[in-house]
Amino acid sequence: MIDAHAHLTDARFREDVAAVIERAAAAGVERVLTCGEDVESSERAVGLARAHPQILRAAVGIHPHRAASCDAPALARLRELAQDPLVVAIGEIGVDLSGRSAPLPEQRAALRAQLALAAEIGLPAVIHLRDAPEELRAALDAGRRRVRGQLHCYSEGPGELAGWADRGLVPSFAGTVTFARNARLREAALRAEALLVETDAPYLAPEPHRGERNEPLRVRDTYELIASVRGVTVERLAEDTRAAARELFGARWE
Ligand SMILES: [Zn+2]
Ligand SMILES: [Zn+2]
Repeated sequence: MIDAHAHLTDARFREDVAAVIERAAAAGVERVLTCGEDVESSERAVGLARAHPQILRAAVGIHPHRAASCDAPALARLRELAQDPLVVAIGEIGVDLSGRSAPLPEQRAALRAQLALAAEIGLPAVIHLRDAPEELRAALDAGRRRVRGQLHCYSEGPGELAGWADRGLVPSFAGTVTFARNARLREAALRAEALLVETDAPYLAPEPHRGERNEPLRVRDTYELIASVRGVTVERLAEDTRAAARELFGARWE
């Protein structure tokens, strides 16, 4: 299994990150993508991947919550960090209009600048989307070169999948797919052709661990739910997600 999106540099892992990684490996998690949220956490994500190259890969980028920090020196530093062979994507970037994020003009500028960076250096993007599908579509369509990416913590229904696939985005399902009220999301997990599975740890623990600190080994609960929805074994789903990750993130993922 893979955990295609986590934040192992979060303060909640400060005390025990090595044990968390060890537990994940023991539970059958072969890869974890740990994502930056700003320059500093991106630097630490790369450092952590270097300390655990047998299981970790890193994404470097500036989250919409931190969009104001996406200036020219920050972009130059991300470009530098992305040269590390353990960096497989630019992220977590995106757009979030839920009201908890930066003002839209700042988010729009940060998203477009980082999509342009990903296109220029030939890496995919790890994308956070909340309440702003039109804004993301416009940003993707405005780019001179097409950027492929992970649409992390997929939260729309089955009907929206094709439009994202056309734009090169692969849906990544988090623990939210296990929540009772999210029937549309389970329908999307059934219909998706290529898909990824993630924890978004330390956030979003799946049932039956809702409310606890999430960690990569919990990705198994989400694999089990999605496998049952798709009528396949966990092993088969793991093969499919491994192939999707390899296809999206390329040789650096291996
Ligand atoms: Zn996110
Ligand atoms: Zn995230």
